[in-house]
Amino acid sequence: MKFFGFKGGVHPPENKIETQNQLIQRLAAPKMVFIPLLQHIGVPLLSSVKIGERVLKGQMIGDSDAFLSVPIHSTVSGIVKKIEKLPFPLMGVVETIVIENDLQDEWVDLKKIENWKELSKEDLLKVIRSKGIVGLGGAAFPTHIKLNPPKDVKIDTLLLNGAECEPYLNSDNRVMIEEPLKVIEGIKIMMHILNVDSAVIGIEDNKEEAIEVMKKAILGTSIKVMPLKTMYPQGGEKSLIKAILNKEVPSGKLPSSVGVVVNNTTTAAAIYDAVVNGLPLIDKVITVAGKAIREPKNLRVLIGTQISEVLENCGYNEEEVKKLVMGGPMMGMAQLTLEVPVIKGTSGILALTKEETNYCKPKACIGCGKCVDACPMSLEPVMYARLAEFSEWEKMAKYHLMDCIECGSCSYICPSNRPLTEAIKIGKAKLRSMKK
Ligand code: SF4
Ligand code: SF4
Repeated sequence: MKFFGFKGGVHPPENKIETQNQLIQRLAAPKMVFIPLLQHIGVPLLSSVKIGERVLKGQMIGDSDAFLSVPIHSTVSGIVKKIEKLPFPLMGVVETIVIENDLQDEWVDLKKIENWKELSKEDLLKVIRSKGIVGLGGAAFPTHIKLNPPKDVKIDTLLLNGAECEPYLNSDNRVMIEEPLKVIEGIKIMMHILNVDSAVIGIEDNKEEAIEVMKKAILGTSIKVMPLKTMYPQGGEKSLIKAILNKEVPSGKLPSSVGVVVNNTTTAAAIYDAVVNGLPLIDKVITVAGKAIREPKNLRVLIGTQISEVLENCGYNEEEVKKLVMGGPMMGMAQLTLEVPVIKGTSGILALTKEETNYCKPKACIGCGKCVDACPMSLEPVMYARLAEFSEWEKMAKYHLMDCIECGSCSYICPSNRPLTEAIKIGKAKLRSMKK
């Protein structure tokens, strides 16, 4: 296969060496889990449990009738202690179910499916939804919706995102290396649902071991592995489609408009566990790194574990940390408190020192155009920043603001340290509130 590349992009320091060869370790279950009722793109769920009730590990504890939703499950067995608004890692507060672990590790009955090929597409989608599966690359879009494009759309290719282009992170990398058969079987289930013969796994060429392991795992299948020249943000859906298939997704359209569905490789492993082993999505592999961490690790963590417990396990140096981030340094969310939980979309926790954050005061724009060249979506970030200064939100929309994937490449490359991505996020939030 030919590598076509994508427009723009940047190459920040990779900083993956410290954890790329670290085996995934399982973090012990905490005494208390904090499970927010919103962990997917969509509407918040309603709790289906009451304070004082005993729940089992894997039991569904919140759901919604809304189209864009997936249920959540208890990640321990224990007693529901509180249901209240608590700090949420993606900003603000969210209604959260707090469960005290009784340390009995008592599971609900898990319905395993030996031969998933005998199930209809509709039944497989129902299983995937019921197990709370969302895109694990960070977006947390409900997977059963992504795998069910409109009837008039013909899908011919499934792309698997194994790029993991964010610096520091190695969670997808380690899942591909340590759980290749789950990844491949999950891809086969998705191909069966989408009725496609073609699937390509895109992996950046800084993950040589994952490329080799995946190449062995696909032998005897129609799945292909495509090494990609390392470049950020290759893992963006539209960038990946351009790099592997040389197709451009039009402005405002979804990948399905060019016959493609994109899913993450770790999501494929979760689909396998959901369908074959009957397991709901109750844990997540995350990378814990940054120079304020003494023992960087890849950890399998129960969803709802507070990041204070994760950091304690990895030798967190509170005095050295300048910025705490959930996710990667380019697209992740800065955290103001350690009392927020790991959620389904968490791919890493970074404790960055002053040296790593490299904060400099913004200066005047010098009109160099580097932000425009770096933008993978062919946008004009410099224009957004100027319009935001004058609160010209509607004009920002006319310049296709909503196509921005908030990758941060423009801010990263700007020699004047202009807060371009911040201006974009504010503009998007203003436009959304104007629609309400
Ligand atoms: S405008 Fe948006 S998509 Fe373009 S580089 Fe900036 S953050 Fe990325
Ligand atoms: S990269 Fe920075 S200095 Fe250059 S045009 Fe864009 S905003 Fe201005």
